[in-house]
Amino acid sequence: MAHLNDYREFAGADVIDELALSAERLSGVSIQNINSTAVGGGVAEILMRMVPLLQELGVNALWDVIKGGEQFFEVTKKMHNALHGQPVQFSQDEIDLFLATNETNARELNLHGDIIFIHDPQPCALIQRKSELGNKWLWRCHIDFSRPDPFTWEFLKTYIEQYDASVFSAPSFARQLSIPQVLISPSIDPLSDKNKELPQEVIDSVLQRFKIDPERPMVTQISRFDYLKDPVGVVQVFRKIQKYIDCQLVLAGGGAVDDPEGAKVLAEVQEAVNNDPDIFLLLLPPASDIEINALQRASTVVLQKSLREGFGLTVAEALWKGKPVIAGAVGGIPLQIVHKYSGLLSHTVEGTAFALKQLLQNPSYANNLGKNGREHVRRNFLITRHLRDYLLLFHSLRHPKESMVYL
Ligand code: UDP
Repeated sequence: MAHLNDYREFAGADVIDELALSAERLSGVSIQNINSTAVGGGVAEILMRMVPLLQELGVNALWDVIKGGEQFFEVTKKMHNALHGQPVQFSQDEIDLFLATNETNARELNLHGDIIFIHDPQPCALIQRKSELGNKWLWRCHIDFSRPDPFTWEFLKTYIEQYDASVFSAPSFARQLSIPQVLISPSIDPLSDKNKELPQEVIDSVLQRFKIDPERPMVTQISRFDYLKDPVGVVQVFRKIQKYIDCQLVLAGGGAVDDPEGAKVLAEVQEAVNNDPDIFLLLLPPASDIEINALQRASTVVLQKSLREGFGLTVAEALWKGKPVIAGAVGGIPLQIVHKYSGLLSHTVEGTAFALKQLLQNPSYANNLGKNGREHVRRNFLITRHLRDYLLLFHSLRHPKESMVYL
């Protein structure tokens, strides 16, 4: 596993030195992260790297995962969809189950961190133990909060406003809240298996394993099978293109413990694919980081046709590999893709197909977008910037009345 010093070549030596200085004052302070899944999805992806790097900096970072049954995750997925703007109704039983599962976890988890760092809505009602424990509580929202369902938002707000501060991924997600709101974008780790450089033989062997032709252009979307990632829309885009340009489509992804909708979405995608030999529908097991890395690196163009998106780590991952990306102009994606500079933004199947045709027919334009995209990620979305933001946030939480914290 990579060490902090290994990041100097990407982030600059001064950034690494500043991290050490900032962390020194947090030595021994415990930061207890809590989320709802250990694998699958962007939150787990980030914590997996963030926690060991904080530990290396001397911060006592911990990570716990709440437990919940199938029905609890059905309710929280419904909540997730509602916060992404889908109108849904919750029965009293569903609300009760949500609260009861949080209560059980609040009792069973040893909530001993100096700062309890809760990720996303699933565990947000753990806050009920705050007055008894007296520690500092942070709520980190990773989802697209630009148009939440009003009922769901009002319900969650009663819990969120009990936290000491909240963290959102993009300016458009900021809400009317009585607690401080901090804007911190997520990040990728350039040295993780998902993003590190790969020898060509590894890339070739992954393509061979999936029977993908290395000689033909390859268009890829990597995502959990989720309606909001619009995999069926991606197949429709491909149908419009394959008539004119010889290419292959790879749709690859797996599930997450806290996402029970995956099987249904996958079945719909399978139907849309209709055994087309030019479409590779790959169901990936957890920990397929090298495979995902290789697929991204082998791609001619990467799509992320999301209809809603918290941040969209897959976009940063592809840009970091210098790939031209076409992605939905939603959530945190426009922070990463400056239209026609570091990628192309799209809103519809037609718009995505038009952009895809343009990139497949103009490789040098596509290359330039990819090159700019990599630099944009290097400057803004690497884990070192994220670590710096978190350390500053922890300082500000420990010194709430001070306008300046001396390191
Ligand atoms: N991912 C993965 N396996 C999959 C699908 C996705 O490892 O089968 C990873 C993907 O590479 C990215 C993260 O999970 O690092 C997804 O984060 P993103 O922000 O794109 O979407 P989310 O799933 O959190 O909505």
